[in-house]
Amino acid sequence: MAREYVIIGDGIAGATAATEIRESDPDGHITVITDESDLLYNRVATKDLAKGDKERQDLLMHDRDFYRKHDIDVRTNTRVTQIDEDSKRVGCHDGSRYSFDKMLIASGGTPRRLPVPNGDVHGIHTFWTINDAERIKKAAKEADSAVVIGAGLLGIDLAVILGTHGADTKYLMRGDRWWRQGISKEGSEIVEKGLAELGVECVFHEEVERFNTRDEHVTECVGSSGKVYPCDAAGVAIGLHYNHEFLRGTRVKIGEGILTDEYMRTSVRDIYAAGDIAQYYDVILDRVNQNGSWASAKEQGAIAGRNMTKATDEDLEEFELVDTYSINHFDFFIMSVGSVLGSEKIDRVYDDGDYRRVIFFRDKPVGAVFVGDVSQAGILRKIIAQKPDFSELDKDRLLAESVDPALLKELMAP
Ligand SMILES: Cc1cc2nc3c(=O)[nH]c(=O)nc-3n(C[C@H](O)[C@H](O)[C@H](O)COP(=O)(O)OP(=O)(O)OC[C@H]3O[C@@H](n4cnc5c(N)ncnc54)[C@H](O)[C@@H]3O)c2cc1C
Repeated sequence: MAREYVIIGDGIAGATAATEIRESDPDGHITVITDESDLLYNRVATKDLAKGDKERQDLLMHDRDFYRKHDIDVRTNTRVTQIDEDSKRVGCHDGSRYSFDKMLIASGGTPRRLPVPNGDVHGIHTFWTINDAERIKKAAKEADSAVVIGAGLLGIDLAVILGTHGADTKYLMRGDRWWRQGISKEGSEIVEKGLAELGVECVFHEEVERFNTRDEHVTECVGSSGKVYPCDAAGVAIGLHYNHEFLRGTRVKIGEGILTDEYMRTSVRDIYAAGDIAQYYDVILDRVNQNGSWASAKEQGAIAGRNMTKATDEDLEEFELVDTYSINHFDFFIMSVGSVLGSEKIDRVYDDGDYRRVIFFRDKPVGAVFVGDVSQAGILRKIIAQKPDFSELDKDRLLAESVDPALLKELMAP
């Protein structure tokens, strides 16, 4: 009898899993359930849509025909609300129910709102969907002034979008720099200059106390310093709340996201998780990890999809990827490779003003961040993938302007 596969989410993780399952199991019955009205689109490029560099149709990746051709049943505007792991059934908001033999949860996250007075009035935007991008573009074009909160990889997108559309934009940050987790103040200063050229002023040591409104629309942001920032629009990017509320009462183990092993299996047999929602066992870091990137979600979706079709556990594939994330809003690049969460970090600012950080965990290099020249990202990525022990090696070799290719050979030698 044909196997029943159910996938929650038609983002890059869920959609990739569906096509991988179809490749490996031509007879299986596959249902993809998404609460969005759009089929898979390029979420990374939503920032280009909001900036005005791309049109909506440029982002669309799969249409109904794609799913028809691959014999995949896809349900849009359908929210999964309940799972019964014993009877192997998924229940949705509209009363529809689906049985599964194997299920994948690829439901990602939803942006958190700022928990301050008036934190969710009109004009305050979070950013995750293609519809958010269109709303933000319109608001940015109409705004004379704006504030952005969230000194991370999504916050900077919002700041650039509001600044490039001409709003006088203040980018408020709790600490003394942009992306405290990833770079030092020296690295941040390069980014701050780039932001200033796009009309964005960074304001440090500032938090939001509340927003003021007129006719239920934001007009001002009041900082913890007491300073008042006029704003017709505000962008908030303070992290995600992961979409797993439908698992309440099940035996699927939850941490921040859904806990999985390196094969993307959850604690309940035949239920898998992949993409932003998966808090997986990382074989490179040798600990639990969670990524928030397109490449990682795609690869996890592919691995989970293939593993769901395997007859025996011996054939399961491990997820192992040195992730990359890049930002190209400026006339220089920002690129992160691997993980920024380690126990030790070393930094260097080069004569021409470029910046690099290398991150170690238990003497293993696990990540690197580049601001400016990213030409060494490739070799660093390969070195990290070797999981080398640097306790007896000179860590500064990884900060050399040009990392010696002989080092990689040395590390790869059996
Ligand atoms: C503006 C922006 C810029 C980004 N830039 C970059 C970048 O430069 N580089 C990079 O690598 N990554 C970037 N990312 C992150 C990247 O897009 C995500 O990591 C990736 O898309 C995650 O894919 P996913 O499939 O795990 O989750 P998602 O794409 O979030 O898909 C999950 C899907 O599940 C649906 N869903 C949730 N709950 C339910 C439910 N109960 N029932 C049915 N459906 C449900 C959601 O609506 C969603 O459609 C960016 C993200 C954004 C928003």
